Amino acid sequence: MKFATKAIHAGIKPDATSGAIMTPIFQTSTYVQDAPGVHKGYEYARTQNPTRNVLQNQLAALENGNHGICFSSGLAATDAIIKLFDPGDHIISSNDLYGGTYRIFTKVFQRYGVDFSFVDMTTVSAIEQAIQPTTKLIWIETPTNPMLNIVDIKAVCELAKKHNILVCVDNTFASPYLQQPLDLGADFVLHSATKYLGGHSDVIHGAVVVKEKNLADRLAFIQNACGAVPGPQDCFLILRGIKTLHIRMERACENTQKIAAFLQSHPKVASVNYPGFKAHKGHEIAKQQMKHFGAMVSFSLKDDSLDAANKVLSGTDLFSLAESLGGVESLIGHPATMTHASIPLEERRKTGVLDSLIRLSVGIEDADDLIDDLAKALQ
Ligand SMILES: *Cc1c(COP(=O)(O)O)cnc(C)c1O
Repeated sequence: MKFATKAIHAGIKPDATSGAIMTPIFQTSTYVQDAPGVHKGYEYARTQNPTRNVLQNQLAALENGNHGICFSSGLAATDAIIKLFDPGDHIISSNDLYGGTYRIFTKVFQRYGVDFSFVDMTTVSAIEQAIQPTTKLIWIETPTNPMLNIVDIKAVCELAKKHNILVCVDNTFASPYLQQPLDLGADFVLHSATKYLGGHSDVIHGAVVVKEKNLADRLAFIQNACGAVPGPQDCFLILRGIKTLHIRMERACENTQKIAAFLQSHPKVASVNYPGFKAHKGHEIAKQQMKHFGAMVSFSLKDDSLDAANKVLSGTDLFSLAESLGGVESLIGHPATMTHASIPLEERRKTGVLDSLIRLSVGIEDADDLIDDLAKALQ
């Protein structure tokens, strides 16, 4: 089955009791048993819920995995994966990472004795150098946030396999429509479904997809033991969002290509980070591992001051100033003070998160209107 068909049908059947074509929202906390231990596969809704099951099966199909596990947020999914590891275990991640991921690694799990190294993942040798005998996991995000660097998923997975290390790819920025990391050798794919999967900025949700039953069982155990489950209504909203994922991504990526070209030619813009440019360091890898170049773009101004950035940030009408991404509407954000405020200044500067860096999540409006809006704000 091709992706567009899967987005509508995979894992979804009309409801067995009513024929309802849309998966019902099973708003229940418990399930009646015929006799002690005799039930229909559902006992208590922290452990299992039919609406959640349908979504989990669909996500597994979209990522070419075998098992999906849904969580109450992307960070709850991250939390569950890191809880598979023990004090003394070492995890390698990128120095250009979603701010909340950096925060849970350094402010929560480091306190429990898990060790982290943050390296420039665009060079595989930097990862190889960071490997220790205790290294158990490599955590990839690609494209990265907010610099839009590209990590070679296949090359990193090959390196990891040689050392018996697991690989997790945060696929939030690409969505399964653009990139399928399990096919490239990853063990876990993680999503903040809050973003492109949901697609309408109306729900917080997270998911992990794996191939191995053993990993799925251990994650389900942690989910049930720790309790970070999504509500059935939220699962329904993600199911609904996914039905148009491929169409939304096509339009958003097309708009982004036009906007990146406009920014590149603008006299007030210093540099544009967009993997679709031939000159982008990760362009060739992006071409291989992604279907299109994504709908995120960031740029810095020739006048690298907070003041100049503020003028642009408050000068747009269509681009709303907000954190998050991946919705149908375009957003504009300021990583240094918004999404990446939890990353220390020295760390930020090292990775290029300058004071004037502005990040766009391009939506599915008309590209000409979006360009006019940016032109006005840059003026
Ligand atoms: C938003 C985001 C997360 C966290 O997800 P929540 O659903 O907000 O908990 C993780 N990784 C990336 C790349 C994100 O953009």
